Amino acid sequence: MTNNELKSFIAGMPKAELHLHFDGTLEPERMLQLAEKNKVKISYDSIEEIEKAYQFTDLQSFLDLLYEGAAVINTAEDFYTVTMDYLKHCRAENVVHTEISFDPQTHTERGLAFGIMIEGITGAMEDAKRDWGQSSLLIMSFLRHLSEESAEITLEASLPFRDKIVAVGLDSSEFGHPPSKFKRVFARARAQGLLGIAHAGEEGPPAYIHEALDLLKVQRIDHGVRAIEDPELMTTLAAKQIPLTVCPLSNVRLCVFDTMADHNILTLLDAGLNVSVNSDDPTYFGGYVNANFDALVTDLQLTQDQAVRLARNSFSGSFLPEGDKSKMLDRLSEYATG
Ligand SMILES: [Zn+2]
Repeated sequence: MTNNELKSFIAGMPKAELHLHFDGTLEPERMLQLAEKNKVKISYDSIEEIEKAYQFTDLQSFLDLLYEGAAVINTAEDFYTVTMDYLKHCRAENVVHTEISFDPQTHTERGLAFGIMIEGITGAMEDAKRDWGQSSLLIMSFLRHLSEESAEITLEASLPFRDKIVAVGLDSSEFGHPPSKFKRVFARARAQGLLGIAHAGEEGPPAYIHEALDLLKVQRIDHGVRAIEDPELMTTLAAKQIPLTVCPLSNVRLCVFDTMADHNILTLLDAGLNVSVNSDDPTYFGGYVNANFDALVTDLQLTQDQAVRLARNSFSGSFLPEGDKSKMLDRLSEYATG
């Protein structure tokens, strides 16, 4: 199979996305349009200027731009529009299931009501389900550079919408903000029946992955690529099949790896870990899920068998009910065996 044949096999392959931030799906065109509509002043006048700002030196330089972009999203209709833009990409790329993370604090800190976000985002999720059978779940993430108290206030504000949210997560600046900082709020979320995920081992050390598992008791790790530095942790992750939601283009853009050829995703996969391919913040990092797979084909000589295993992990690592999971896994097997 040539690289191009493999890329078109991947494009048609049913798959899930497990690591995706709502704010990271804001397209430059949409940012300009919403800024104008809502009369929000931003530092950029054109799509070219926004795209130029996508040259990041580290996680923080990206977060600065991300938070500026988020300020143009102001009404339930805006949240709907941005979510629907993303869900249409899922449809086009055969991402048949997605788990969308949103950061309420990015928006509540500037005065928006919690319900506005939920109404807009879940409205689009429900319409996509009705219109083309798009499967999706919603995850609420806490910003780790803020205090645990702020996370607790956010959890409290989410309780009237408890049935719309499947899990809580932890994202934003990793250095200096270990998972242990959020131990109590994750315990409170668990008591509400919420599942847990956390970004760990992206820029931060393997110790943060241990903390996320042992103290926050999460079911899944976002990124986790630095697990490779800790052989014992690698054994645990493989034995327990704890999913790592890996984001290749993001990691190279944010200089976690110098080049795609240096990325360790296939080493982790072949060591038996449950790794999947995700886009993280697709508009900021140069592509959606299929573009991430394509980069692995081009720079890491991804094989068809590995591509199918990565897609299988995206379903088995999801928070779908078991019945839905096996239906999607069956659909993937059928596709893979032609
Ligand atoms: Zn992320």
